[in-house]
Amino acid sequence: METLFTKIINREIPARILYEDDQVLAFHDIAPQAPVHFLVIPKKPIATLNDVTEEDKGLLGHILFTAQRLAKEQGCEDGFRVVMNTNENGGQTVYHIHMHVLGKRQMTWPPG
Ligand code: AMP
Repeated sequence: METLFTKIINREIPARILYEDDQVLAFHDIAPQAPVHFLVIPKKPIATLNDVTEEDKGLLGHILFTAQRLAKEQGCEDGFRVVMNTNENGGQTVYHIHMHVLGKRQMTWPPG
């Protein structure tokens, strides 16, 4: 099923894009929860983390690698948080997997 994020990939709706390659897209979150808050998404439309398969293992690594590389570029060397909300209890609202990267403020635990 096509989501909002497919529309961002296809440039049908605008986003502040940070990085793109053949596998992933990264863009600033529209409702930032920290001074740095961007999302890294696969171009492949996978609904939730529960839907990944063996063949997606490399893609997941690429998402995480991209997250840390861009976090450094955004000045988060002193720390940041990555989050992948999954399904209803996980607080997921857009059903196209995405890694949140949050930084430039002190994070607390436990999360809400
Ligand atoms: P989640 O609740 O984990 O599914 O995260 C979805 C995220 O997408 C939220 O943090 C939203 O603020 C963000 N979001 C929704 N629409 C857009 C958009 N058009 N551009 C950028 N981020 C968006």
